[in-house]
Amino acid sequence: MSHIDLAVLKSKFRGALVGSLLGDCLGAPFEGELVSSGDKIVIQKYFDKLESPDLKGPIRSYTDDTAMMKSVAKTFIDKPEVDYTYMAKLFVKEYFAEPKRGYGESIVEVFSKLRKRKFEDVYKPAQEQFNGSGSFGNGGGMRVAPVALYFYNNYDAMIDVAKKSTQLTHTHSLGVHGAVFQCIAVSQALACNPKKKIDPEQFCNELKQKMKEVEKENDDGLNLKVEQPYVDKINVIQHFLKAKYNDELDEEIGIVLGNNICAIESVPTALYCFLRSLEEIPTVKTDNIFRRTIQYAITLGGDTDTIACMAGGIAGAYLGEEAINRNMAKQCESYEKTIEMADSLYNAVCGASNRAQFLLSDSATFITIGLSDTALMDMVVSNLQQQRATTEQLRREAAIKRMPVSLAVADIIKYITEHEQDDCLLVGFTSQRVNPFREKTPCTLL
Ligand SMILES: [Mg+2]
Repeated sequence: MSHIDLAVLKSKFRGALVGSLLGDCLGAPFEGELVSSGDKIVIQKYFDKLESPDLKGPIRSYTDDTAMMKSVAKTFIDKPEVDYTYMAKLFVKEYFAEPKRGYGESIVEVFSKLRKRKFEDVYKPAQEQFNGSGSFGNGGGMRVAPVALYFYNNYDAMIDVAKKSTQLTHTHSLGVHGAVFQCIAVSQALACNPKKKIDPEQFCNELKQKMKEVEKENDDGLNLKVEQPYVDKINVIQHFLKAKYNDELDEEIGIVLGNNICAIESVPTALYCFLRSLEEIPTVKTDNIFRRTIQYAITLGGDTDTIACMAGGIAGAYLGEEAINRNMAKQCESYEKTIEMADSLYNAVCGASNRAQFLLSDSATFITIGLSDTALMDMVVSNLQQQRATTEQLRREAAIKRMPVSLAVADIIKYITEHEQDDCLLVGFTSQRVNPFREKTPCTLL
């Protein structure tokens, strides 16, 4: 997208957070279920009812996914320089205030240690988990959407903060890189024009390029089955997206991409759900891409709240809040507060107090040309997008293997010498049959 209108960006901020909330709240009742074809009909009816303005049912509660996402967003709003001790304190405070939000046992252990040790070294309790190898759960991915929003115009900072905020609870590379994967997916969706159709292949290729960089850090000591597991999963996603949809495919997705609490077995699945939902799915009857994404994610079963939360975050970042049915959203706990949180985050990035600094650091000349505030910001954002595209191109070019011309020439000479026996210009043709330039046999027209 070469140009982001600020109103669209604001709507996308809301979409990403409300989308995550809805996936969490609406997916939670199905957590741990094995979903059959019959259940898909039940889920279809459940969603049909949720869209109805007359529905008067209990408000759907959010779980640990949203509870922790709120703490990440609040850290950026309260501490613009990103204070990880503050973030850890918010996680712990939130947990002890409302412990029954479906937190996993191991994360509760981390919170207890953090509190007991008075937040002395906020990374140590997580590092000690699982005999020092750290957790590879999807807890980092489920709460990472605010990172993609807050750093939407600073890619390197975004990656750094996605890692560090995850490491407060999950330190295994699969847990950390899972969060980075989800963060990049949300940021890519944020940069896509909601009026234009996304090309899933291109979306995956772009993400793959970035994850190759991220997974360069993997070392042999981790005993990973494949060298770059997330890059590998993107290849699998691309393979499945090319396959025609049928019921059996869903079973395969559950087995191959996964639907459990491990980051590697759920984060890529969430992206798959979003990309698959860009087209119609026979078992999910709706024209709305956002609804289709979370409904489809839930029909895959397993860790439904987290997978739907992550898929909903990506879909919301792409489509904006207008795509999210308000009746459905109102059924979810904390809907209005999530909108407020998205707006605060938006103001923290693009609001009046930060705008001067934003303009100066990126394009000081715009200040003097007398444009209206909105036009000014639109130009800056457009300019930023161009710069980012140029930097990306430069990065790609820098990664190309280079060699001096003399070496390249020597290489060519070596190849020619080694293959001179097969060179028909030197040795001629073994028979006229293999000569592509031989006289053609005349053909008699009947
Ligand atoms: Mg949960």
